[in-house]
Amino acid sequence: MTANGPALSVVIPCYNEEANVGTLWERLKRVLDGLGREYEVIFTDDGSTDGTLEALRRIADGAGGRVAVVELAHNCGQHRAVFAGMSQARGKVVVTLDADLQNPPEEIPALLEAMERNGWEVVGSVRRNRQDSFLRKLASGFVARLARKMTKVDLRDWGSMLRAYSREVVDQMTKHPEHSTYIPALATMYAKRVGEVEVTHEGRKDGPSRYSLGKLMDLYLDLMTSFSDAPLKVLFYVGVWLAVLGFLLAGVLLAGRLLLGPEWAAEGVFTLFSVLFFFVGAQFFALGLIGQYITRIYREVRKRPPYVIKEVYRGEGE
Ligand code: UDP
Ligand code: MG
Repeated sequence: MTANGPALSVVIPCYNEEANVGTLWERLKRVLDGLGREYEVIFTDDGSTDGTLEALRRIADGAGGRVAVVELAHNCGQHRAVFAGMSQARGKVVVTLDADLQNPPEEIPALLEAMERNGWEVVGSVRRNRQDSFLRKLASGFVARLARKMTKVDLRDWGSMLRAYSREVVDQMTKHPEHSTYIPALATMYAKRVGEVEVTHEGRKDGPSRYSLGKLMDLYLDLMTSFSDAPLKVLFYVGVWLAVLGFLLAGVLLAGRLLLGPEWAAEGVFTLFSVLFFFVGAQFFALGLIGQYITRIYREVRKRPPYVIKEVYRGEGE
């Protein structure tokens, strides 16, 4: 399959992007035609409820076999949609990109050039003058710090989905698809040489972000629990030290009671209460986190696929 694939595949997840895909394809086509290599574009329709699927099919019909539309059975989320697209991609290099034109397609040549010049297997992009809300940028700063810690790879921008991956890295990722994962971080597990280039960033062309607060929180949890058991270790050590502290405190209270009399100890009752609440809180936190890991084990054991492709459409007359 890979032997006769084109030089480049572009994978784009689309969730209710009816208003954006037309312009996106026009701009993308101009850029890719200018590259002078064979290419294919794979749009994944991530269970859209508007006319995205029909719009994508029309694009495929007019593209002479260079565009495929992967239709998912239901909304699986951006990262699984990218995975599903990657599973169909045949290019030697696979570029991913958002459908809302926040990542200008005109930056793709720079990405590929840097990848070839430096021999990188994965290249990310750093968004210059990022056009997102303050809160969104704050959240991204948090994600970047977490991702650096978890993967031990020193990249600046982890949230930008304008990225390029070598065929080997894509093969590895699609061979072992994970349910709950953050693709930019996952790719670093299969790549040794990872780099970044600066790119421009634009405002969303149509409509609000397709990420609700809940979806965003899910993504952060995935990032935290998919790459390391560090949160559990921290819990363990915090637990041990809390227990030691509680034990010492009990000793102090007992000594106070014996040396200073019952009045002193009665006042101490409230201290004891606050300590108790602290412990209860810590326990709940611990249980919640353990629950996260168990959820993940449950998901893997169940062996339900991370995405379900209904159909791959490669345009009429092919
Ligand atoms: N997306 C998707 N499935 C979802 C949510 C988003 O395929 O459940 C796609 C969306 O169509 C877009 C990309 O993922 O192409 C990034 O989404 P969005 O622009 O809404 O996120 P933001 O830019 O706010 O991070
Ligand atoms: Mg966007």
